[in-house]
Amino acid sequence: MQLRKLAVMGGTFDPVHYGHLVAAEGVRHEFQLEKVVFVPAGRPPHKTDHRISEAKHRLAMTTLAVASNPFFEVSDLEINRPGPSYTFDTVQEVYRRYRPEEVFFITGADAVLEILSWHRVQELLKRCCFIAATRPGHDLNNLKERLQELPPHLIARIVPLEVPALAISSSDIRRRVRAGKPIKYLLPEVVEEYIFIHGLYQQDLH
Ligand code: NAP
Repeated sequence: MQLRKLAVMGGTFDPVHYGHLVAAEGVRHEFQLEKVVFVPAGRPPHKTDHRISEAKHRLAMTTLAVASNPFFEVSDLEINRPGPSYTFDTVQEVYRRYRPEEVFFITGADAVLEILSWHRVQELLKRCCFIAATRPGHDLNNLKERLQELPPHLIARIVPLEVPALAISSSDIRRRVRAGKPIKYLLPEVVEEYIFIHGLYQQDLH
């Protein structure tokens, strides 16, 4: 069966948390999507000198987190692709694999702020509509100002969406683990267990 509308949920997911899951489910409902594919970033092009957790851990945590939602799945397509993880290549691959009529790309508004520097950005925006998920209190004017260089019809392809649950953040979770503070109720219990079993975030990664 051919899919009509599908979203790619792009992010580092280090670790995945309820903010991501609530954002994806909200977008799925709002845009009547048939599937949301979580794609943990392989080698984020802008993070060559940052340390992030091993791809196998980020992939495993994301797989555990989405298991109970029949509309969600996880793909290792960036993790298994050599070279930098350009979103343009990911979206092309998603069209090839799933053959949807329309693709949306959901990610954080902070990441979208840098979109002008992304690989083949104008073609990317023609291929898919962006949902820029923002934390409460995020200044959306900033986003509009930054995008002025783009033609108006492409600016219209970026839809900001405030997600209150995004008050939760991966960096805060990592800090909390390091400081011995609880992370319960910020992410699925299976992910919490995975973090402790594998001793993740005990050292300062970022
Ligand atoms: P990031 O630095 O990990 O995250 C930037 C901000 O966005 C953080 O506040 C983060 O919150 C939030 N965020 C990230 N993914 C999110 C999601 N799916 N939903 C809601 N909030 C999210 O950004 P990143 O993960 O590296 O980049 C985001 C996506 O853009 C990835 O898929 C990456 O491959 C792509 N990207 C592509 C290019 C390119 O093609 N040249 C360049 C840069 C980024 P948390 O920390 O809480 O997640």
